[in-house]
Amino acid sequence: MIHSTIGRRGLMLVMSSPSGAGKSTISRALLERDAGISMSVSATTRPPRPGEVDGKDYYFVAVDRFQKMVEAREFLEHARVFDNYYGTPREPVENVLRQGRDVLFDIDWQGTQQLRDAARADLVSVFVLPPSVGELERRLHTRAQDSAEVVAKRMAKAGDEMSHWPEYDYIIVNETLERSIASVQAILTAERLRRDRQIGLPDFVTRLRGME
Ligand code: 5GP
Repeated sequence: MIHSTIGRRGLMLVMSSPSGAGKSTISRALLERDAGISMSVSATTRPPRPGEVDGKDYYFVAVDRFQKMVEAREFLEHARVFDNYYGTPREPVENVLRQGRDVLFDIDWQGTQQLRDAARADLVSVFVLPPSVGELERRLHTRAQDSAEVVAKRMAKAGDEMSHWPEYDYIIVNETLERSIASVQAILTAERLRRDRQIGLPDFVTRLRGME
């Protein structure tokens, strides 16, 4: 735990994986257990799945609205994934970071590359791999929200997405959910303690030395 009087710069925790590796479940658990991190809600042109809520899971927007947001530079990063566009609205992220809080992103490798180019020092990236191809397929099928055609497409894309694992700082093979959640929490704890993120350290140590 960081000493409460030492100011901290927020970090951007990116989690990527092929669809079905369990990334969303891990993210959800992390958000519930850690009050210092909040989720970046992306905009997308894909239609909502059953149960998805506009403004919570995504901002569901039409293609022309998305293009306008791109032109107005409202996105921190944006990419085409499968047949749809996805983008991270810039302003909410910058607000959270400014408060010394952390932001969690569920974005693909293209978005991660863009964030890395824009803000390497603030980025911590984690790639989640499924334990096996069979398990990935099983998870995609049991999710059952997508049509068989969409599932087949996602399986075909999984290999492409997984080929980007070497670009990430940390790799988690999601064998056991609890262990994966604990791993992400450990990464977050360690990264928050990095010297250059604890921006109040010089003053803190000056005060400490004055008390010698
Ligand atoms: P889904 O349609 O299953 O919610 O997401 C499909 C893929 O798009 C996932 O790999 C997810 O990480 C990625 N994605 C979601 N939001 C964004 C975003 O704002 N930017 C980028 N680059 N990828 C995103």
